[in-house]
Amino acid sequence: MTIFEEPSASVNKIGSIEVVCGSMFSGKTEELIRRLKRAKIANLKVAIFKPSLDIRYHENMIVSHNENILDAKPVADPIEILNHVDEVDVVGIDEAQFFDENITSVCERLAGMGKRVILAGLDMDYLGKPFGPMPNLLATANYVTKLHAVCVKCGGIASYSFRISDESDQVVLGEKQHYEARCRSCHKL
Ligand code: ADP
Ligand code: MG
Repeated sequence: MTIFEEPSASVNKIGSIEVVCGSMFSGKTEELIRRLKRAKIANLKVAIFKPSLDIRYHENMIVSHNENILDAKPVADPIEILNHVDEVDVVGIDEAQFFDENITSVCERLAGMGKRVILAGLDMDYLGKPFGPMPNLLATANYVTKLHAVCVKCGGIASYSFRISDESDQVVLGEKQHYEARCRSCHKL
């Protein structure tokens, strides 16, 4: 995988939107944290948000499966993000699929203010259908990175989050006890 190079926006104050998408376990949070840590190294002011519905690991943090951690503010409505970004250069948003459609216009507003916005989110739900606001976010982003996990069945390239438990709601929070990464053919098994 080519490592994503930061847009010059971070230096020139021209706003931009980056979306990191993929299945569960594909490394989205890891990649989000990597980019945000680099922004901090560049002395940029960073603020991180996540939907308040997602408090699987910790209420005030984003946590990757390999236990990389950054502080994050939980927000119920994406509009709230606009109240916490004075002086902020880079806005990180994890689990973007759980926000409502307003997340796209909020990101456009943030980029319009000259901020670099980096979102991570599931592109598809457990049925392989586009997840919530992600199609609009992907279409309006300046930069898109699609990551892949390793298929737990065959070791191939996984794009799907297979639900191993038997709930049928689109949103069932959980990790290894509920989902596994699978490739296109093993997702159909
Ligand atoms: P995401 O945010 O996309 O769900 P994370 O960034 O939290 O993913 O975690 C990625 C890490 O998950 C990997 O670096 C690896 O350590 C771990 N992992 C567990 N299962 C898998 C899998 N099936 N494929 C790839 N990575 C996996
Ligand atoms: Mg994640």
